[in-house]
Amino acid sequence: MLTRSIPQKSSTAGMFMKLVSNFIKPQCGVGSCSFFTSRPASYLQTACEVAFDTERNVDEYADVDWDKLGFRLMETDYMYIMKCCQDDEFSHGQLNRYGNIELSPSAGVLNYAQGLFEGLKAYRKVNGNGFLIFRPEENARRMQIGSDRMCMPSPSVDQFVHAVKQTVLANKRWIPPPGKGSLYVRPLLMGSGPILGLAPASEYTFLVYAAPVGNYFKEGLEPINLVIQDESYRATPGGTGAVKTIANYSPVLKAQMQAKKKGFTDVLFLDAVDNKYLEEASSCNIFIRKNNVISTPMARGTILEGITRGSIIEIARDFGYEVDERLVSVEDLTEADEVFCTGTAVVVAPVNSITYKGQRYKYNCGEDAVSRKLYKSLTDIQMGIAEDKKGWTVEID
Ligand SMILES: *Cc1c(COP(=O)(O)O)cnc(C)c1O
Repeated sequence: MLTRSIPQKSSTAGMFMKLVSNFIKPQCGVGSCSFFTSRPASYLQTACEVAFDTERNVDEYADVDWDKLGFRLMETDYMYIMKCCQDDEFSHGQLNRYGNIELSPSAGVLNYAQGLFEGLKAYRKVNGNGFLIFRPEENARRMQIGSDRMCMPSPSVDQFVHAVKQTVLANKRWIPPPGKGSLYVRPLLMGSGPILGLAPASEYTFLVYAAPVGNYFKEGLEPINLVIQDESYRATPGGTGAVKTIANYSPVLKAQMQAKKKGFTDVLFLDAVDNKYLEEASSCNIFIRKNNVISTPMARGTILEGITRGSIIEIARDFGYEVDERLVSVEDLTEADEVFCTGTAVVVAPVNSITYKGQRYKYNCGEDAVSRKLYKSLTDIQMGIAEDKKGWTVEID
């Protein structure tokens, strides 16, 4: 059931009054937050439309060529917004029409990158009605850890999951048919209040939007080619590499662009201290396999601990592989039988080659590759094909 703050069956007038009272209720101290005072009147109307539209569109599919989905932004119908003040707690959010948001030019997020993002996927169930989201509480907890690092208030786990569910249901006509892709859900947390001197912003916005996606890399499910970057680093000890802050991502673009220009799919980063231990690619974690042993760089504050990474570690152990979280050096790459990347967006991507100092190392990514087995096992759970014995999926209908 779609539970929303907008009553579904009440009269238009009653609904409008409820909306108005929800919307103009000030959440912040006088003068400290700009949001409610600067909102144009049309905003109320926008919120009102939400109630009508979600009822009308329930069972249709959006007009999309589902066979051509990539990992690009396709605008959907609704987004979820919740705001609070610096020393307060999030308490009340709601769906709005998807669209541009208004921000002060001096918003903390624009000036000092006080922001976090998350990413998770919703699948249409293969057997029967309803939708599945994968381990949303893990994303919620990760956002809480990140918000502490970035000095922001964070939604509770329940608020986060509720917002994700509402966003998925309100946009359900955009969820691809089974086997064609998923609805990628993107929660954001940002300092939206104005600030000039360096300090935490006065007001925070939690926003969730969603877009239908297919494969992440243009290679699709084909193996990818990585190049090791040893001139710039993604993360440093004591920095923010372990949290999903927006501040970590634009610094990676230059290396990524250069790699793509040379025909590589993505960059593989090394640690900034010894310049020899693998960390991760620009947005996914890395694993190597040698015989029956699978290894992945240990989390020591400079890699983003992926939820896919954690899930794959468990699944691989269930299959009987030994999985080590350890320091994995570039020399280990010369011996590995197989390498693969994991992340919500890429799922499990087999690595065909890694290039380091001009030398190209090739890996098994044939039909018998372990990464394929792990990919299937994980996606079968995510799509509801296999029984979810671990309680990882959350069902909504
Ligand atoms: C999001 C992300 C990952 C993957 O995390 P998942 O929870 O598996 O999606 C890995 N590395 C970086 C840098 C990321 O931002």
